[in-house]
Amino acid sequence: MFKKLSTELEKLRDVVVQYHTPLKDYTSFRIGGPADIFLIPLQNRVLPEIIAILNNYQQDFFILGKGSNIIVGDQGIRGVVIYNARLNNIIIKDGQITAECGVTLAALAKQAMEAGLSGLEFASGIPGSLGGAIFMNAGAYGSEMKDIIVEVDVINNTGDVLTLNKQQLDLSYRHSILQEKSLIASRVKLKLAPGDREQIKAQMKKLNQQRQEKQPLEWPSAGSVFKRPDGYYTGPLIEKAGLKGARVGDAQVSQKHAGFIINRGNATARDVIELIKKVQREVYQNSGIKLETEPRYIGEF
Ligand SMILES: Cc1cc2nc3c(=O)[nH]c(=O)nc-3n(C[C@H](O)[C@H](O)[C@H](O)COP(=O)(O)OP(=O)(O)OC[C@H]3O[C@@H](n4cnc5c(N)ncnc54)[C@H](O)[C@@H]3O)c2cc1C
Repeated sequence: MFKKLSTELEKLRDVVVQYHTPLKDYTSFRIGGPADIFLIPLQNRVLPEIIAILNNYQQDFFILGKGSNIIVGDQGIRGVVIYNARLNNIIIKDGQITAECGVTLAALAKQAMEAGLSGLEFASGIPGSLGGAIFMNAGAYGSEMKDIIVEVDVINNTGDVLTLNKQQLDLSYRHSILQEKSLIASRVKLKLAPGDREQIKAQMKKLNQQRQEKQPLEWPSAGSVFKRPDGYYTGPLIEKAGLKGARVGDAQVSQKHAGFIINRGNATARDVIELIKKVQREVYQNSGIKLETEPRYIGEF
């Protein structure tokens, strides 16, 4: 089905082409069927070339970061996934960081700390990539990506590279313009403030300990399953509806933090979706509040 396209992709330098790759190996939930074609670009410059080829074939694709905010269907993805973890260069100069989007937030925050730059402490425990964090305007502990972004190089669906400033990115709570326009974040400029290395390190340690205590990090999950409704916290709403520990198959509402659904071993996407629907239904009956999901549903269920 993808013969011509595959042949053309395989001719590219600096890209690994795989087939039928199980996506459960690439998601923090450890859930998800196979991707027909799985591309791993090894150099940033090859990304626009890939996009241009996919555009010629009118082939849809999904761009995968660390897979920590997605629920991939059990049947996987019919088409192309681009996994950008190998695009992870970081340059730090004059208090400004320029980084490729496959870099993890943990690695980026660590390098910033080592360079005595403050502003990424909040992100050091978020288990995503920089690209995923831009797409979601990831945030924690009262800070978000919006606070530190200067500009982002994006690739449009014909393979052209454009630069968007902070305003053009339209960042708000778990939202960026990337969600409406099919744009790939490629390279990001961040502005941080000079700070004391030991203090930055201590703050990162403190925040990460808080995470360990409050979140079920010992189990696979996709983080908070629901967006925070205005004026409420999701954990207590779910708990009040009597759903702590509720289970469908191996998917379970965490006992430690009811806002998380965990995979106790062999949960399927179908189990997770069924449990999400149950929580939404019963929280609505109990408190009249409609919970919206935060992770994105990808592929065939
Ligand atoms: C235990 C746990 C704790 C978490 N805590 C937090 C938290 O405190 N705060 C928070 O905000 N989130 C949190 N998350 C959710 C998640 O880590 C973030 O949303 C993160 O930013 C997602 O990044 P990712 O690389 O994993 O994206 P993925 O899950 O791989 O992708 C998410 C979306 O981003 C898109 N995307 C990824 N890379 C790019 C790119 N380069 N260009 C365009 N689109 C792209 C994907 O196509 C997809 O639509 C948590 C998750 C877990 C599992």
